[in-house]
Amino acid sequence: MQTNLADFIKNTREGEEADAILRKCVHCGFCTATCPTYQLLGDELDGPRGRIYLMKQVLEGKPATRKTQLHLDRCLTCRNCETTCPSGVQYGRLVDIGRKIVDQQVPRPLSQRIVREALKESLPRKWMFTPAMKMGQMARPLLPKALRNKVPAKQHAGTWPRTQHARKMLLLDGCVQPSMAPNINAATARVLDALGVQMIVAPRAGCCGAIRYHLNDHDGGLNDMRNNIDAWWPYVEAGAEAIVMTASGCGATVKEYGHLLAHDPAYAAKAERISGLTKDLSEILPDFQAELASKLEGKIGKRVAFHPPCTLQHGQQIRGKVEGLLTAVGVDVTLCADSHLCCGSAGTYSVLQPELAYRLRDDKLAKLEATSPEMIVSANIGCLTHLQSGTETPVRHWIELVDGALSKAA
Ligand code: SF4
Ligand code: SF4
Repeated sequence: MQTNLADFIKNTREGEEADAILRKCVHCGFCTATCPTYQLLGDELDGPRGRIYLMKQVLEGKPATRKTQLHLDRCLTCRNCETTCPSGVQYGRLVDIGRKIVDQQVPRPLSQRIVREALKESLPRKWMFTPAMKMGQMARPLLPKALRNKVPAKQHAGTWPRTQHARKMLLLDGCVQPSMAPNINAATARVLDALGVQMIVAPRAGCCGAIRYHLNDHDGGLNDMRNNIDAWWPYVEAGAEAIVMTASGCGATVKEYGHLLAHDPAYAAKAERISGLTKDLSEILPDFQAELASKLEGKIGKRVAFHPPCTLQHGQQIRGKVEGLLTAVGVDVTLCADSHLCCGSAGTYSVLQPELAYRLRDDKLAKLEATSPEMIVSANIGCLTHLQSGTETPVRHWIELVDGALSKAA
């Protein structure tokens, strides 16, 4: 597609990146058919091709309007369109740039600004979020349904293994997961301990940066990323083999540190190294598949449905690894129809666009439950909480299933 960027953005770093992405788009529209919001709303401007066109107009100097902002707000950033696109258009990067520029031109109403500021300031800070979550869990039975949906029941993490192993890997605790589902990382540490690997949580590491970055606070998000690099670096220098992610949303972001900090001379090389070391848990455990299978033989007789998060299958382009591993250790695992579609959680989307988010959740749950699972498993804290709010079927991280069976086998 031909472009003619306006002076305000031409020759800037973001302008050049956006221009290169726009030029790859041939406007074929293949992506539109697989876009969840286009499927729900049937409006070209609520699909990727329409949104790309809107962003191109803004970057070429046409003033953005509230309508432009609304069509970009309704995008889940699920990146399903990237998987579909035959031309390699990096829609996720383009929409991050486009949203920031549109927000600079179109001030949001006060009510929206308050909600977005509250999310940006509270979610990434454990010292704010953890006590708030504890209070929410105590008051959970009394909360209105909309709020109860965001507060999972209190969970016990069990014991964290204390054995020292020569093989060591870092584990990101992140921001909201430790208080919402502390068992996920504890289960990961126990499973890897049984396989001879010690998991280390760097005390100063925190939010991966995605929350602030995707809410248009790029500077705040980049600072969260620099903080994690500083927290991990001594362990990397000491020989940590990998940085393991149990939330695929965080994994998709940390794998982009190298790109997002490429312009920062103090951090560019370290960020590249951190991204290179970062692995989703489903990229680590297949190396131990035979050992796990022999430990677990016949111990997991469950029928489970796997929901692959968008950040795993589209953001990180990892498909088939969780299902392959679970099948190898004896789980009867299935994908539901339209498993490529988003469940509606999408970071802060379920708070900011609740109507669309719940329609997508209910569609997803209907398809998952059509497979008659005893349990639904996934790989991202946001998806787990969002799906669990709409069903009585237990929804867990897949590593909790493996850990539960391993402790029974021990
Ligand atoms: S599929 Fe790719 S090239 Fe075609 S319209 Fe969508 S983004 Fe553009
Ligand atoms: S990121 Fe998802 S919701 Fe947004 S345009 Fe692409 S497919 Fe549609």
